[in-house]
Amino acid sequence: MSASAQPSAPRAPVRESLRIAGKKVSRDRVIEVRHPYSGELVGTVPKATLADVKHALKIARDFRSPLTRHDRYTILMKAGAIIAARHDDLAHLITLESGLCLKDSQYEVGRASDVLLFAANQALVDDSQVFSCDLTAHGRSRKVYTLKEPLLGAITAITPFNHPLNQVIHKVAPVVATNNRVVLKPSEKTPLSALALADIFYEAGLPPEMLSVLTGDPAEIADELLMSADVDLVTFTGGVSIGKHIAAKAVYKRQVLELGGNDPIIVLEDADIEEAATLAASGSYKNSGQRCTAIKRMLVQESVADRFIELLVEKTRAVKYGDPFDPTMDMGTVIDESSARRFETVVNEAVAAGARLLIGNVRRGALYSPTVLDRVAPNMTVVRQETFGPVSPVIRFKTVEEAISIANGTAYGLSSSLCTNRIDMITRFVKELHVGSVNVREVPGYRLEMTPFGGIKDSGLGYKEGVLEAMKSFCNTKTYSLPW
Ligand code: NAD
Repeated sequence: MSASAQPSAPRAPVRESLRIAGKKVSRDRVIEVRHPYSGELVGTVPKATLADVKHALKIARDFRSPLTRHDRYTILMKAGAIIAARHDDLAHLITLESGLCLKDSQYEVGRASDVLLFAANQALVDDSQVFSCDLTAHGRSRKVYTLKEPLLGAITAITPFNHPLNQVIHKVAPVVATNNRVVLKPSEKTPLSALALADIFYEAGLPPEMLSVLTGDPAEIADELLMSADVDLVTFTGGVSIGKHIAAKAVYKRQVLELGGNDPIIVLEDADIEEAATLAASGSYKNSGQRCTAIKRMLVQESVADRFIELLVEKTRAVKYGDPFDPTMDMGTVIDESSARRFETVVNEAVAAGARLLIGNVRRGALYSPTVLDRVAPNMTVVRQETFGPVSPVIRFKTVEEAISIANGTAYGLSSSLCTNRIDMITRFVKELHVGSVNVREVPGYRLEMTPFGGIKDSGLGYKEGVLEAMKSFCNTKTYSLPW
């Protein structure tokens, strides 16, 4: 484990604008965006007013998209081509506002192109159904057809800081593919990538009425975004407490809530321990541990725990962390100093309660070192709540029953990782874990951008994201019947 002291890439601060149906609008009151590593001001974004929100929502509600499937395919593919051409600039922007290292930002830009590719192809697929009606004794010789239509009202999309581009694209691409209209409010911590993405979509030919981006103070604008009669659906990715607040506010609107996680990796004694430790380290530290599906608890069978921990500490020591703009770094900062302080606090609390700190828990500003804790108990805050940073808490277990009970023992149910080759164990865990996904011999975050993704319990209401599922949620299904 090493920390670099090279300076971050400098850049003059940008004064950004809102995008209201493609129009750039500035406001006197602004929010500052700072580079988490150096604290430098990298830009400002306007604080949208209530009138801005109402205006953007009305445009979105009233607009009816004329785009054919081929038009939508073309726009999505073109946006993907622009992103690929500006790969390095976008990665730079993500790193600038989030403190994620360049390796993570580059990976994120690549994922964004995947989302667009899948959405473009899916825009070409007509998923209408046909039902013959002469199936029972009282049936008739008719047919019922289904038709997917965009919503009548607008979509509100609210996104978190941890994937400044990819979380946004997972909302916008399905909107475009289904001919909907969205008003997006990105995280005030990382709004610059979302604004850059909007410009890319306009450049790719998207009718500007289909996408507005509003930045601002949630205390001033969120209620309108959630409760306006112009909104038919709210899609939110973020933490549990705001998610539940949204659920209570957006009454009688469709809600897609993708909330926090507390994902375990479960290592059984027959597992390849080298592979398990590699997955554990990458699942815990990638994106500075700030992924909803990051590994936040490591449940390891007692008989192999010593070997696993030895390897985990070795791999943790090898993680290069420091200046996010140094291309050799494996990890940059977390989002801000207060988050890093929170990790310090919960780790110290665990140590005071009997856990053993084996490496890490070193903080400098928003830079927090990869950290391994052994002999963690399931009731400690560091594993009971979501620790959204590069912390690897190891909980030792003896029996499979105990592992399942610990894994299911938090409020969350997003994803999980299972390390074993025993098919009887795999089928049992797949059946008994209360989660949205189980990845055998892979990190919990493994998925295609197209496959269904999302959690249960406090991690979400069970409606999935991923391009296909998001497109389903964003449509009304109309049926019509014909005598033929
Ligand atoms: P957060 O909940 O603090 O903020 C998310 C968004 O909600 C931001 O845009 C914020 O401005 C907005 N917001 C704040 N107050 C609001 C209000 N009163 N009404 C409406 N919106 C409001 O989350 P965060 O800290 O940005 O992101 C981290 C969290 O997101 C973690 O818990 C992580 O697990 C979760 N997450 C979940 C998924 C998933 O797919 N399940 C993916 C990524 C992140």
